[in-house]
Parts: sequence; C-alpha cells; structure tokens
Amino acid sequence: MPSTIPFDTRGVFVGGRWTAPSSGQTLPLFNPSDGTTLAEIARGGAADVDAAVQAAQEALDGDWGRLTAAERGRLMLKASALVLEEADELARLEALDVGKPVKQARADAVALGRYLEFYGGAADKVTGETIPFANGYTAFTWREPHGVTAHIVPWNYPMQIIGRSVGAALAMGNACVLKPAEEACLTALAFARIIERAGLPAGALNVVPGLGEEAGAALAGHPGVRHVSFTGSVAVGALIQTAAAKNAVPVTLELGGKSPQVVFADADLDTALPFLVNAGIQNAGQTCSAASRILVERPVFDQVVGMMAERYRALRVGPALDDLDVGPVISARQRDIVTGYLELVKTSGLRVAAQASLPAALPAGGFYVAPTLVANVNSSHRVAQEEIFGPVQAVIPFEGEAEALEIANGTPFGLVAGVWTRDGSRALRMARRLQAGQVFVNNYGAGGGIELPFGGVKHSGHGREKGFEALYGFSSLKTVAIKHD
Ligand code: NAD
Repeated sequence: MPSTIPFDTRGVFVGGRWTAPSSGQTLPLFNPSDGTTLAEIARGGAADVDAAVQAAQEALDGDWGRLTAAERGRLMLKASALVLEEADELARLEALDVGKPVKQARADAVALGRYLEFYGGAADKVTGETIPFANGYTAFTWREPHGVTAHIVPWNYPMQIIGRSVGAALAMGNACVLKPAEEACLTALAFARIIERAGLPAGALNVVPGLGEEAGAALAGHPGVRHVSFTGSVAVGALIQTAAAKNAVPVTLELGGKSPQVVFADADLDTALPFLVNAGIQNAGQTCSAASRILVERPVFDQVVGMMAERYRALRVGPALDDLDVGPVISARQRDIVTGYLELVKTSGLRVAAQASLPAALPAGGFYVAPTLVANVNSSHRVAQEEIFGPVQAVIPFEGEAEALEIANGTPFGLVAGVWTRDGSRALRMARRLQAGQVFVNNYGAGGGIELPFGGVKHSGHGREKGFEALYGFSSLKTVAIKHD
C-alpha cells in the first residue's frame, strides 16, 4: 500500500467492521495527475451488499433506531467537528484521488462538515402537523425514516455528495449503505472512519466500494432497500430507477446538465466574469452544474468573449497537489471523451476563442486537457447540446429575452441556470421561465448552497437534495386519525 494513504483502503465497512470483500479481489485506484496507481480498493459485490443491507436493518432495529432525533443530531455534529478538524487531510486525499486542485478539494471537505452540521442541527426540528378533520377525530402526521437507504455516488464530488445525501438520510433516522465510485473512493472510506470515531452505532453507515454493474446494481435492486439516492449519468439513472421500480421503492436521481448562464447587455460584466469562467473550469469542468453554455446578448457578445478569452489564456493547468487553476480530468477514458469533442470543434469549423496552454513539464501519465472556449456556437450543435464533462465552454449569441429562453431551455437537461441583468423584472421573468431546478441571478452556484434545495427537471433528474427539502425526501409521511367520541 503506498505510504501516501495512511489507512488500509482494501476493506468493505459493514456493521461497524472492516473486512475483505467476499470476492477476495481488489480494484486499482489511479492518480489522475500522473496516471500511477494510488491504492487498491475492495471489489465489493452482491454478497457484501447483502451483508451491508442486513447490518443496516439490524442497526435500525437496535441501537441506531432507539436514539432520539436529538441524540442522532448530536452524533452528527461530532462527526462534523471531526471532518473540519481533518479538512486538510481529507482535501489531500480528494486531490490525489479526483485530481482537483487542493483548494477546490478543501472547499469540498468544508462542505461535508457543513452538511453534517446543517443536518445534525435539523434532526430534531422536523415536525408533522395536526389536520382539521371530522368532528370527534384528532388527525396528525409523523415523518418516519424509510428504513435502509442506498446512496450511489459518482467520482467528481465524493465528499459533497456524501454529505448532502447520507447527511440528510442519517438525520431522519435511516440507516445507509453507501456505494462510492470505483474511480475515486478514498474520502468515502475516510468518512466511514470518522463516523466510527464520532460514535454512531454500528450499521448506521455501511460502505461497499466496487464496480457499478456489480455492487451498484446489487444495491439498487436489493429488496431490503427502501429508498435509492443516485447521483451520476442519465443512462445509469434509468437503470437505477428501473431496478428500484421492481421493489416499488422511491428514488432521487441527480443526473447531468448542460447549464446556461444568460448574460444580458445591461449586466455588470466585471462582476459576472469570474462566475462565467469558474463555473466552466472548476474541477476541470466535471461538475453536474457546470455552466457549459454561456449565452450572451449580441451588443456585448464580442466584449464578453474577449474578457473570457483573456482569463482562459491565463489559466494554469497542473497536478492537483500543485494547487493551480485546473487539474487533470479523472481518467484516460474521460480525457478521450473530451478530446473527441475538441476534435469535433475542429472538424465542424467552430471558432476557438481561446485555449489555455498545457505546460511541457506536466507528468506524462496524467490525464490533462487544455481548457477551451468555443465561440459563436449554434445552439443545436452537439457541443452546445451534450454534456462534455470537461473544461470546455460554448458561448452562444442571442437577441432578446425570447430567444435567450428558447436557447436556454432547448436541451434535454434542466439542472441549474444563471441570469445576469440589472433589470429586476426581467430577472424574475427569466427565473420563472427557465427550465431548471435552481436559478441564480447575478451570481452562480452561491458557494455550494448547502441550505438551497437542489435537483433537476427533464433529463437532469427528479427529487431534491440539499436544504430542509431533502429531509422530506428521506422520510415517509404517516397520517394518524384517532376517533375519540
Ligand atoms: P455513472 O453514472 O457512470 O456512475 C455513478 C455511480 O453509479 C458510480 O458509483 C458507479 O459505480 C455507479 N454505477 C454505474 N453503473 C451502475 C449500474 N449499472 N447500477 C448501479 N450503479 C451503477 O456517472 P459518472 O460518470 O461517475 O459521473 C458523471 C455523471 O454524474 C455526469 O453525468 C454528471 O453530470 C453526473 N452528476 C450529477 C450530479 C447532480 O447532482 N445532478 C452531481 C455529480 C455528477
């Protein structure tokens, strides 16, 4: 085991114990910054998932299920404090594993701590209501945990997604089985260790690393699971929903996006500029809510492209631990997908407004792609329609609100949208008509938005995570009607 990882990464965490997976096999984790093998992780499978679901059910029937909401919240606050204490180390692990610059990884660690704080604090604040009903009755509602919840997460923001999904589920008293992505799962393992040290009862959280089609598929279709939360691609989301449907189990699907930021001619362009660029290149563009389309009103189109191009040319690309602006993408496969789109840009004759340069000294085995700004893209072109999941932004001109809306809403996705304007009425009209789960006006992303419900419409998914709303998703409403005279 390489010494840079200070714990054994090869186990599954089931019922409070670390054991070898039943396959007896491991999978390699690669360091995207140089392509070397970083660690070996467990190749968990159906038998491990079965044991994890059973352990979670036992926790619900035992020590975890007996805790009051306030006691659950207190344990989560303890876990939050441990995460924040260890934020530097968690950031280092995430940077090594995902390839994102350390400062971006550190923001993710702080977000994980904040999710545990938010949901730990909320655990004892979810109430039901009394309902005016027939004479002689008292009727009211309770919110109950679903039971065992499944959490299947991707590689791009492991800590943030674990925080928002597992955090809300634990707060409502569910017991969780987490399947991290096979490409990046070090912080999921570190998180399990923190949960152990915070003193959550055995089985409240179980972690089964492994391949999607093995551990992931077994978990999504397990008859003992009562809710599935999935974050990932549209194609796998459809498989998850189909598997869950066979058990009549609700799902939350957080899928992809092709999110627009719409810049009107009256916008404060200097304020907008860093948001326009960062939302495209953060985490090398591998962000579900990346603003991969920038729609600009014609009178300021050339000016905005010029301002963005200047920033692109100054971007510094390098290994995650060098903590520059942009790191590598996650894998050779992802690099090939993104460079395939860059080829398409070339063969379609699209205008490359700017491209950051890749330093000659980059580690040869790393998965680097030059951040690229493509201008004057027709909104029906594949580069403006498909989720590239790399540091590539398409700038699209428009004239007036109606065309802006037609272009912004004209993809299969609807995750996040941004509007830049000084006209308050227009901002509200746009916010109302944009097809997206979140709309930001004169900002974008708002620092992660732990408190802000998040999720998509159309192919970006359904269900909401983050904020108080997630607590409703991770619980089931029971109505009680008592006849007393
Ligand atoms: P992916 O769908 O390939 O994998 C996501 C997870 O699903 C992984 O843990 C994987 O092992 C598992 N999985 C794969 N096949 C499975 C199967 N047959 N059954 C069960 N589980 C399976 O996605 P990815 O490529 O890792 O992530 C990128 C995608 O995730 C992008 O489309 C991105 O937009 C999306 N994403 C969305 C959000 C959001 O909140 N909306 C956040 C991050 C990423």
